[in-house]
Amino acid sequence: MKIGKYSFGIGDRFAHEGINQLKALIAAEEQFGVHFVPVWNKSNREHQIIGTEPASTRAEADAAVKALNYKDQYFVDADHINMNNVDRFIEASDFFTIDVADYIGKTGTLEEKFSNAIKEAGKIYRHIAEKKGADNFVTEVSMDEVDNAQSPEELRYILKGLAEEKIPVQTIAPKFTGRFNKGVDYRGDLALFEKEFEQDLRVIDECIKAYGLPENLKLSIHSGSDKFSIYPIMGKLIRKYDKGIHIKTAGTTWLEENIGLALAAPEGLALAKKIYVNALGRMEELTVPYATVIDVDVNALPSPEEVEKWDADTYARTMRHNQEDPLYNPSFRQLIHVSYKIAAELKDEFLPALEKYTDVIGDQITANIGDRHVRRLFK
Ligand SMILES: [Zn+2]
Repeated sequence: MKIGKYSFGIGDRFAHEGINQLKALIAAEEQFGVHFVPVWNKSNREHQIIGTEPASTRAEADAAVKALNYKDQYFVDADHINMNNVDRFIEASDFFTIDVADYIGKTGTLEEKFSNAIKEAGKIYRHIAEKKGADNFVTEVSMDEVDNAQSPEELRYILKGLAEEKIPVQTIAPKFTGRFNKGVDYRGDLALFEKEFEQDLRVIDECIKAYGLPENLKLSIHSGSDKFSIYPIMGKLIRKYDKGIHIKTAGTTWLEENIGLALAAPEGLALAKKIYVNALGRMEELTVPYATVIDVDVNALPSPEEVEKWDADTYARTMRHNQEDPLYNPSFRQLIHVSYKIAAELKDEFLPALEKYTDVIGDQITANIGDRHVRRLFK
């Protein structure tokens, strides 16, 4: 099973926007002439926090494809799995992101740092292949959830090791330099990112030739939601080296759902505010699992009294990722990003509202994926 050159990780917390997301990629193709393979991803952590099963992601993807009579390739990604949780994903998924970050050593030689992670990836890959059949899925290996970025030399060592383990890795997710905070722009040295990304593309080319890795091996960018400043850099470089790319987003769609709710009707706005006010009271609990990937400035967060006074437009502009808008508040946006647990608790209110206001929400999602994400790669 071989994934196309450009692919986009969509998927959403509540498995509700499959149609709206697929519409966004179809619209982006019409607008920018670039085809992106849709990949619905949802991590084990998200399933646990919301209390859902991987089969619901499969159902979402299949239903969207059917509803829009979509004839091209698509996948369902078991995102960030390891030996402890892979089994629940076997049936529903045909794309597996094998996460070996926990097996990477912090110091030492290349071998000391990476050989355990490489062996573990082999073990998990063979486990999936045995259950699923080696030709029935796409393999990604991820190492992004660690403290330190991997250098191009380290990437070369890892890819060589994965080839020795006979893992047909098609996408690889290293940790890049800089902060990839959830739902907001990249923060870091853009020139350094560019240099690193370019060197990684070269390493991938070398490793395909030297170690017989799949020809379509490409980089996978995790936490790709809203990293607007690096999109043009990545776009330029993948064209220069004629490489594909996989970009994972998901959180960004949950944020757009909130904006859509707020804009759709007064009861939607009230619900969006309720989620925020609840989140404010449970900051600690909500932010701890995401501590390394958010930077919320508590002093920048509006008080419940202030938010109560907002109209729909104020809510939408505070949330929407438009850096030119003086109302845009990245701390507010990041707090909402990690607050989907609250929407899950309010599901009897939240899910019917998503249904009822799907048109307004869909417009937000389409514009966000197409105009704010995909366009930045190709224009
Ligand atoms: Zn990741």
